[in-house]
Amino acid sequence: MNQTTCNIAVIRGDGIGGDVTDAALAVIEAARVRTGGFRLACDDLAAGAACFRETGRDMAPGAEEACDRSDAILLGAIGLPSVRHTDGTEISPHLRLRERFQLYAGVRPVKAYPNAPRRLADPRAAAIDLVILRESTEGLFHTAAATGREIVQTDDEVEDVLRITRATSEKLFDFAFRLAEKRRQRGGKGAVTCVDKANVFRSMAFFRKVFDERKAAFPDIAVSYNYVDAQALDLIRRPWEFDVLVMENMFGDILSDLAGGLVGGMGMAACAEVGDAQALFQPAHGSAPDIMGRDSANPLAAILSGALMLDYLADKAGGHQGLADAAALIEAAVERGFEADRLRPMEFGGDMGTRAMTREVIGIIGEA
Ligand code: ATP
Repeated sequence: MNQTTCNIAVIRGDGIGGDVTDAALAVIEAARVRTGGFRLACDDLAAGAACFRETGRDMAPGAEEACDRSDAILLGAIGLPSVRHTDGTEISPHLRLRERFQLYAGVRPVKAYPNAPRRLADPRAAAIDLVILRESTEGLFHTAAATGREIVQTDDEVEDVLRITRATSEKLFDFAFRLAEKRRQRGGKGAVTCVDKANVFRSMAFFRKVFDERKAAFPDIAVSYNYVDAQALDLIRRPWEFDVLVMENMFGDILSDLAGGLVGGMGMAACAEVGDAQALFQPAHGSAPDIMGRDSANPLAAILSGALMLDYLADKAGGHQGLADAAALIEAAVERGFEADRLRPMEFGGDMGTRAMTREVIGIIGEA
């Protein structure tokens, strides 16, 4: 197998970000030792609230350009409640990276693991395995404060703009269908649900129209539609029936947290943000300042985000077997670890902190 070097921009960030990033990198290294065929060249970049407090900049000089040169970005967490810009907004260089690289596809896998907490009593909840695919560059966030775009505001009224473009929607839907195809090869349902509010908003009717145009190119994927309010209900009533759910930015923001809550806590929520030429991988949780420095954070969201990164790099390298196998090894180790009750995160009342969890995942990979 050819030896591929992947250049990774690593941003540990704030709070528990450093601990969970170290966990992800250690687990990736254990998987790499098993599969071979690649190495990661990591470029550590300072960014975040602590960086801002110490230097007056939210990213070290040259860090954004270093991200340009990398094959992927691995991020821990950004933000500290005590550190803000003078206008009161949070330090958020990662949102700038999302803009810079047009990371339109926000991927949030939601999977039930054995022995991990479940919020639904129905035994079928054990089969929850879906992805919330959130468009992440436009929609109702088009004029959000973080984008710096103009909004209409007087002392009497204010408007935000919900923007849907054909170009981004086409890419988003193609991504959704390809993701469903890939998941089907791994035993998934091969289905995409378009979640919208096409009965009320012209923007959403347009979203659905583009979805219908793109689905023709993927005849093997089953499609369905759901209004967002009905989808919220169905995520409680029958979440095990869904596969890939694709939606506008704001809808995805809300439903991804709801869906994540069905299968545990923030410490399980992995996330990928993917664009045409770059992608950023980070746990969906924040810097959790309330538990920082205690070795109690659940590192699995970061570890599973690391697996998503390897999978992305495998595709980017034209189907690299070592990278794909390493991703699969990590996912299987987490599954087996929960099954055998060997992964008991403190987040769920267990006795294992960040380092113990990381060691256990590495141990399971070593036994594979
Ligand atoms: P942000 O706005 O950046 O998302 P936040 O404060 O809203 O930040 P988090 O930092 O994710 O959200 O923290 C929310 C709660 O979840 C906190 O009580 C935190 O301790 C907990 N939490 C977050 N991540 C983890 C983790 N990996 N392990 C255990 N608990 C976590």
